Amino acid sequence: MSHVVIRIESTAHTAGVGMITSEGEILSNQRAVYIPEEGGIHPREAANHHTESLPELFRKALKEAKLEPNDISLVSYARGPGLGPCLRTGATAARAFAYSHGIPLLGVNHCVAHLEIGILEGATDPVFLYLSGGNTQVIAYAAGRFRVFGETLDIGIGNGLDKFAREVGMGFPGGPKLEKVARGPELLDLPYSVKGMDMAFSGLMTAAKSKLDAGHSLESVAFSIQETAFAMSCEVSERALAHTGKKELVLGGGVACNSRLREMAMTMAEERGIRCFVPERALCVDNGVMIAWLGHQMMGADYSISEEDNVVDQKYRTDMVEVTWR
Ligand code: AMP
Ligand code: MG
Repeated sequence: MSHVVIRIESTAHTAGVGMITSEGEILSNQRAVYIPEEGGIHPREAANHHTESLPELFRKALKEAKLEPNDISLVSYARGPGLGPCLRTGATAARAFAYSHGIPLLGVNHCVAHLEIGILEGATDPVFLYLSGGNTQVIAYAAGRFRVFGETLDIGIGNGLDKFAREVGMGFPGGPKLEKVARGPELLDLPYSVKGMDMAFSGLMTAAKSKLDAGHSLESVAFSIQETAFAMSCEVSERALAHTGKKELVLGGGVACNSRLREMAMTMAEERGIRCFVPERALCVDNGVMIAWLGHQMMGADYSISEEDNVVDQKYRTDMVEVTWR
């Protein structure tokens, strides 16, 4: 039996249990998403949702993977960053499962997990464009860490899309709903905020709402938000590629499900003569498989688990992780 890792994702809206073998074969990717009845994500409500969903996700994942708990060699879970109550719920579920079956337990960084699952697509040393709900970063490996070359100065791009969609009554998650209506025809002038390799999205979403209030169609406003926000993201990625001289780009995070973003990134990569890797959509959004895979990578490099590795950290940044497995 090959080495199988179970991973628990529970940082914000998604509870996930994934299983992957040491060869990178995905055996199961079970997810349940908390959708607020109104307003944004309420951390306690989301945590309650995860408490209710996780036992069933475990059962489904084991069944789909055709495994018994004793076949599992490592349990890993997301230590952070994320919402405190959600992280604690995921950590508790992971701990309970691991301890009751005598399996090693390892807490890992959620953002680094998004990166590593992208590398599994075949990249070796890429620049990452990581666009998700709460996180927006351009990252590359240098001298033992995944360094953040640029990031949002205010809200994450996905949270911006969700907030705009909520304000116009489209519900959660907003990104895919806006994508469906983003047809134009008008390309409206919205704030294009790139500062060095950093970006800002808050003013862009406020300006977009004003355009809608001024009578422009939702189709044109959604189209303009996408064109502007994604062009900003591709511009900073290209700058990071030029700066580091790297020849690969990897997309990740829930917003990387967007077809227009994928197309823009591919075009940029083609024009630069580099390769672009885009994981399948189920691996772009928050998922358990990516956490399992990162846990496996870390353990493969003879990582010794310390007490600190099993304490959740809401502000666990990408560049705090010492990368021992590359
Ligand atoms: P994550 O936190 O990585 O699971 O990503 C969730 C975020 O991805 C939410 O803010 C969603 O609105 C966003 N998202 C998911 N699908 C799409 C899409 N097709 N286009 C734009 N944003 C999306
Ligand atoms: Mg995420």
